[in-house]
Amino acid sequence: MAIVEPLSETKEGRRRLGLRSTSNNQPFMEITVSTREDVADALARARTAQKAWARVPIAERARIVRGAVDRLVEHRDEAIADIREDTGKTRAETLMIEIIAACDFINHWSACAVRDLSDEVRKTHGFMRPLKKLLIHYRPLGVVGVITPWNGPFALAVNPTVQALLAGNAVLLKPSEVAPRSGDWTARILHEAGVPKDLVQVLHGDGETGAALVTSGVQKISFTGSVRTGRKIALACAEQLIPFTLELGGKDAMIVCSDADLERAANGAVFSSVFNTGHVCMGVERIYVVDSVADEFERLVEEKVRAVSYGPSSSDEVTDIGSVFWDRQLPIIESHVADAKDKGAEVVVGGEADHDGGLFYKPTFIRDVDHTMDLMRHETFGPIVAIMRVKDEDEAIRLANDSDYGLSGSVWTKNIEKGIEIAKQIETGSVHINDAAISYGVLEAPFGGMKDSGFGQVNGHHALRSYTFQQPIIIDRWGRKTEQHWYPHSEKTSQELDQMVKFVFGSIVKKIPFVAR
Ligand code: NAD
Repeated sequence: MAIVEPLSETKEGRRRLGLRSTSNNQPFMEITVSTREDVADALARARTAQKAWARVPIAERARIVRGAVDRLVEHRDEAIADIREDTGKTRAETLMIEIIAACDFINHWSACAVRDLSDEVRKTHGFMRPLKKLLIHYRPLGVVGVITPWNGPFALAVNPTVQALLAGNAVLLKPSEVAPRSGDWTARILHEAGVPKDLVQVLHGDGETGAALVTSGVQKISFTGSVRTGRKIALACAEQLIPFTLELGGKDAMIVCSDADLERAANGAVFSSVFNTGHVCMGVERIYVVDSVADEFERLVEEKVRAVSYGPSSSDEVTDIGSVFWDRQLPIIESHVADAKDKGAEVVVGGEADHDGGLFYKPTFIRDVDHTMDLMRHETFGPIVAIMRVKDEDEAIRLANDSDYGLSGSVWTKNIEKGIEIAKQIETGSVHINDAAISYGVLEAPFGGMKDSGFGQVNGHHALRSYTFQQPIIIDRWGRKTEQHWYPHSEKTSQELDQMVKFVFGSIVKKIPFVAR
């Protein structure tokens, strides 16, 4: 929850940024923007540290990294206080979205490390099988740059950092300037667990530092943030031929079918639209409800949105959602709502900011929205439930796909088979049935966006390996016996090769199944 303002430069001419809380307008910290030279120094230290870390056995790496969970559990109250000040989240949402998620990520990936990263013997195919043995070595990439946003600043920093470390890399983490201490906590729990200091370093700053990191000579970029910045990072990485993943914005659609459990759907619609003050990449931003059940669904949603409380949230007065995390998000939310009202939407609940003591936006329900409105086309990132009525599920699918984004989505129906059929027609990186906004936490699920929502996928079975180079080591089995096709060639060479074509790919192949693995 930060209002970020430039301060006077340091004596050495470094830029400084001041942060004020959006919950109470009070200044709470300053950061000095890391320069290109700072990034280069950090990279040099990280390279040295990485070389030693890559030699640490995988099980030992996993044991050390796993220790960060214990440190986080121990320091959780302090971490929660800092993350709350950075963001404006309530205590419950900080526990749910940041602390529990981070503990789960560290636990899970540490448990996967030995299985997923140990050298692997793979069978070769067809006629190669008797001739060659194949070993896959999951070789660390080197130093990975991790750049994170302000909306889930701790969990979204912990997840890629831990994956990269387990795979034997060093990490330079550039947290959002809006939520800097979430980055510090990521490093702190890992350092206290025994991860060498230079192996995980935090570089504070804004886009200037992020851009310097991307072009510093790191071996991979893991980026989570806006589409606009994602495009710049893709260009810079392409220029250097380094791999990258982009986890970008979303405009997730929720489809409420005629046979949905309306109580469950209304609860899901409200929670998944407004939790984390609506600042969730895979939060529900558009709801399409089939006409036949729309009256009842809207009635339930109205009742539930009216019951959502907002405010600074303290032990004396617990609220459901906190403040808007970043002052610059507020005008975006306000302009989308104003545009929807101008074009005929009805604001049933909320629909305005509340500046009483901080920067809040009232939990909002807007109906009669359509695709001419910014609210249905661009990422709003506010605590808003926006509902459009549709004739049937086919129209809902068409409208859900009428978007530049494709991160996630949801279908609400009592008929799971029908839900799966609809899910397969939705052009998004993941789809939920009778649930929403949870796929990043289901770690077996590959997570990523289609269209403008991203490039590449994270998590899933390839998570740890995506921070390695899969180096095949091919071992000959037969020695001199396989040299007959090396030089010098003669007529006999061609005859033997021709025999091989007939034997391996000719008629016999119909009787011998040559399986791939
Ligand atoms: P942002 O793109 O403004 O900033 C993200 C990070 O990039 C910050 O650390 C920022 O300092 C840095 N940065 C800015 N300019 C840069 C540059 N030129 N080069 C390198 N780094 C640069 O995004 P944000 O406003 O912090 O985050 C909100 C966005 O993130 C939303 O669109 C949201 O949907 C998206 N998001 C996506 C996911 C996902 O997993 N798909 C998760 C969370 C948030």
